[in-house]
Amino acid sequence: MSKIALAIHGGAGTILRSTMTPELEREYRAGLETALNTGWQILESGGSALDAVEQTVCSLEDFHLFNAGRGSVFTHDGKNEMDASIMDGRTLDAGAIAFVRNVKNPITLARLVMEKTPHILLAADGANQFAKEMAVDFAPDEYFFTEHRWQQLLKAREEGIVQLDHAAEEQESVEDAEQKRNPKSKIQNPKSLGTVGAVACDAVGNLAAATSTGGMTNKKFGRVGDTALIGAGTYAENATCAVSCTGHGEFFMMGVTAYDVAARMKYRGIDLSTAAKQAIEHLTDIGGEGGFIAVDGSGNVVLPFNSDGMYRGHRTADSSEIEIYR
Ligand code: ASP
Repeated sequence: MSKIALAIHGGAGTILRSTMTPELEREYRAGLETALNTGWQILESGGSALDAVEQTVCSLEDFHLFNAGRGSVFTHDGKNEMDASIMDGRTLDAGAIAFVRNVKNPITLARLVMEKTPHILLAADGANQFAKEMAVDFAPDEYFFTEHRWQQLLKAREEGIVQLDHAAEEQESVEDAEQKRNPKSKIQNPKSLGTVGAVACDAVGNLAAATSTGGMTNKKFGRVGDTALIGAGTYAENATCAVSCTGHGEFFMMGVTAYDVAARMKYRGIDLSTAAKQAIEHLTDIGGEGGFIAVDGSGNVVLPFNSDGMYRGHRTADSSEIEIYR
């Protein structure tokens, strides 16, 4: 019997105690707690890691404060376009979707891509068509509308920036202005990112990972981030680990960060915590900001990040924790 373990995140970025109200913090913690309970119940009753990560991410997608599912940010055209991916560490099967609209739980659609098609990634109209054929739950535009996200879009449009989640509320810093001049200038320096994810190890030692996002406020041009890409934002392999990332997606794609953790374990023969530390150092070296959650087949969990904060939580037989700040 393996030790069951579950870890979750609700995004990383400039999340500061000084800018958080007690009420809002309570709400975030409650959202994380509900998600942890959902996945833990599945694992505790002998359910699979795959079911646990899917249902945990559904819970995070249903929570209005995270940038995924219901709380997704708006594109330039005022729409919600969502990306998600899921991977089964037992078989290496994976499924992903990009630019889906009005799908209540994009992670469930990603799992259907994995299980019902010979493909891994479906995008845009085709993915929406597939969603209809699979008769997944759809929700009207109003379900995805949050005033907070709408105000973010109006501000981002006015300033002509593409933005990773809550950045519009902050005054642009000198570093932000500098970043606008560098080659990744289309994206404002992330202040707080709200993508969600879960990784799990079940009682028989199978691993799985799932990640879901609304992407970036004011995004245009069909941008796809790391969340939809196996290896970049999501990876799971029983022999090494399961990983779900959050942060400035372009850098997670450059660093192939989720797979980077697994590859370091595999080729260097190092443990999860050393591999995770090295992968975050590499992400930092290439200029990326954010973090990830990961679990191995012995139920060890790590939640490293290089940003000011990351909404995160984990549960094992011996410990349970929900944290926000550094
Ligand atoms: N990684 C996501 C993306 O680039 C954003 C996030 O994690 O908040 O789309």
